[in-house]
Amino acid sequence: MGILQGRKGLILGVANEKSVAWGVARACHREGAELGFNYLGEALKKRVYPLAESIQSSFVEPLDVGDDAQIEDFFAKVEAHWGRLDFIVHSIAFANRESLKGNFRDTSRADFHLALDISAYSFIACARRAARLMGPGGAMLTMSFLGAVRAVPNYNVMGVAKAALEAATRYLAHDLGPEGIRVNAISAGPIRTLAASGVGDFRKLMEKSARGALLRRNVTQDEVGNAAAYLLSDWASGVTGEVHYVDAGFNIGGGDPGVEPAASGGRTPKPVETGRTSGGPGRERDVTSTSSDRN
Ligand code: NAD
Repeated sequence: MGILQGRKGLILGVANEKSVAWGVARACHREGAELGFNYLGEALKKRVYPLAESIQSSFVEPLDVGDDAQIEDFFAKVEAHWGRLDFIVHSIAFANRESLKGNFRDTSRADFHLALDISAYSFIACARRAARLMGPGGAMLTMSFLGAVRAVPNYNVMGVAKAALEAATRYLAHDLGPEGIRVNAISAGPIRTLAASGVGDFRKLMEKSARGALLRRNVTQDEVGNAAAYLLSDWASGVTGEVHYVDAGFNIGGGDPGVEPAASGGRTPKPVETGRTSGGPGRERDVTSTSSDRN
């Protein structure tokens, strides 16, 4: 018997067969869950329907998480269809492509609001509505990235959104813990998907990530899916408010994903005159070290 046998769960964020959410769906289906899906817009409907059908899903409805009325309508349909819910997976992010390259300081107010709204606030709005359909044993899961806690080149405003998403995970876990509902996040290593292609120099990020990972490779959609199935199941009944890394160990030991040593851009201040001979105990701090040296 699968670890999610008999559970009813929503997977939000399948765009196509490469989506992280689809890896999660496959694993949850394999473990016995009955799944429902959303799609964003008619173009994606054509992609999501056959995928959902391939795992015998009977619930596929439109949902733009930027619209409160659509969230209410979507969950009302879930309630009418199933009457209850055991888990939700939020695998949704969006930012204006222009804000995912170049200097972070150039992020406009509008781009900041959009990225934070769709990529972080939407988890709170969906969790609030989903919790009404859940009882003790319910589980929620969202998808984050290392850019939440480190400055990853080009990830920019999405890093700030992921930091908000990870904090929201902890606050939701705090709110819902007394009701027996668990809330966790997976911080996944880079995987080639539609959303990822919007991040500037993503190929380079993948290469550096594979080199710096303890396992010396990137993770797969299925590895994220398997970890998700565990977190959504009773095997993780004592786990809530966590950010669980599924990144082949990159975050704890690897190099920095994409940081190049400064060529001429990083100005080196003149050494401070200490009056001591260099190399002795009073040696000045090496201001030329990059963050990767500290990892
Ligand atoms: P993806 O493009 O396959 O999925 C992103 C999904 O977000 C799509 O299904 C899209 O329709 C949906 N979406 C965007 N705006 C929406 C809106 N307003 N309403 C409803 N849905 C909306 O890409 P993905 O890489 O699978 O991304 C899924 C999640 O995984 C994201 O949160 C992403 O940040 C996270 N993640 C991805 C990677 C990676 O390298 N691919 C790594 C870590 C975390």
